[in-house]
Amino acid sequence: MLYQRSSQLFADAEKVIPGGVNSPVRAFKGVGGTPIFVKSAKGAYLIDEDGNRLIDYINSWGPMILGHAYEPVVNAITEKAKLGTSFGMPTQLETQIAELAVSMVPNIDKIRFVNSGTEACMSAVRLARGYTKRDKIIKFAGCYHGHSDSFLIQAGSGALTFGTPNSPGVTEGTAKDTLLATFNDLQNVADIVHFNKETIAAIIIEPVAGNMGCIPPAAGFLQGLRQLCTKNGILLIFDEVMTGFRLAKGGAQELYNIKADIVTFGKVIGGGLPVGAFAARAEIMDYLAPIGPVYQAGTLSGNPLAMAAGLAMLQALDADAAIFERLDQKTAYLEKGIREALSKNQVGFTVNRVGSMISVHFDKNPVTDLKTAANGDNESFKKFFHGLLQQGVYIAPSAYETWFITDALTYEDLDFTIRAIDEVAKIL
Ligand SMILES: *Cc1c(COP(=O)(O)O)cnc(C)c1O
Repeated sequence: MLYQRSSQLFADAEKVIPGGVNSPVRAFKGVGGTPIFVKSAKGAYLIDEDGNRLIDYINSWGPMILGHAYEPVVNAITEKAKLGTSFGMPTQLETQIAELAVSMVPNIDKIRFVNSGTEACMSAVRLARGYTKRDKIIKFAGCYHGHSDSFLIQAGSGALTFGTPNSPGVTEGTAKDTLLATFNDLQNVADIVHFNKETIAAIIIEPVAGNMGCIPPAAGFLQGLRQLCTKNGILLIFDEVMTGFRLAKGGAQELYNIKADIVTFGKVIGGGLPVGAFAARAEIMDYLAPIGPVYQAGTLSGNPLAMAAGLAMLQALDADAAIFERLDQKTAYLEKGIREALSKNQVGFTVNRVGSMISVHFDKNPVTDLKTAANGDNESFKKFFHGLLQQGVYIAPSAYETWFITDALTYEDLDFTIRAIDEVAKIL
């Protein structure tokens, strides 16, 4: 496959956009080469600017769980656009999507919509601080909660790929209020809580880590956090920007039967438009302005096009009783194929998976936290990535990213992918 036009477009972009991209994870810095420019997408496939067709395993980093250009979402957006694209006034649509989200997700009474996952997590932490009247938060090394200052301390995803998990520009004053813990290490969290008694507002966590590859919570880990939080008056924030409306209707809270105090959303909830949200029981949410003291706002929050897309997406997921089971089965099928192809070719690897989140690590030891995720052989990953790309299979250009499986993938697509992996495994 040729990527000439993409290379040219990237050269043009670099002159006017830093690094040629509007979000670092799109760059190919982790794997070498230049990014692919997309022209269009439908279902499980991308068509790039050179006319290549690629099977897509990123799916806009999660939102396209039912495939690209999903008709009910596209129709909802186009119909709404004709009626005006933004008002800065309340619309009934906002109540409709809020009602549906509250009915699908356990333990939440009220939800507020924002414009990105970053905004959702940033606002959730402010709310937790306002509610508890405490300053510090605990986050886990390798977890990503967006790019707001408090979270760029050992952050995952792009920050990790590009070697800047602690970003310049974050003041010491801010950084000192973020305490860092090890994912899946409950004793470590308990120790931090012990040494910072009555100063910790919240523990924020990706209940299934997805920004250092996919890392499932160890048995008892989330339960342990829940108990620790309850005992110490700390709010437990589940960042479900990735897992929400993906692992189950009710996300990780439902899957693991754990109650978080605040939940954040993004990605799927916007159906491909810029949407984030955070939610909690009424007692906590009513701390927000205009009825409470914690300020949070947004000119375009609850935008009608974004809400129409999100509502159509949630309605589709809510109406399809078998969707999450089907996604799980497709991803399990892919997992089995990947394991067989890599084993047959004597490649050292670990595959982690929860539902439709899956990641391949080029290290034979278990991957359970940031340290073990960082042990993967990046040279193998680069060959793997470019080998698959040559065969028309597009995975994230970083060893630290999860693959997002879409229901638009057919078993033929999965078989094609497994054959491509088998080919590439021969040269690893
Ligand atoms: C993507 C992501 C975010 C940030 O969302 P944006 O919409 O990119 O700001 C936050 N948390 C998690 C777990 C994510 O995967």
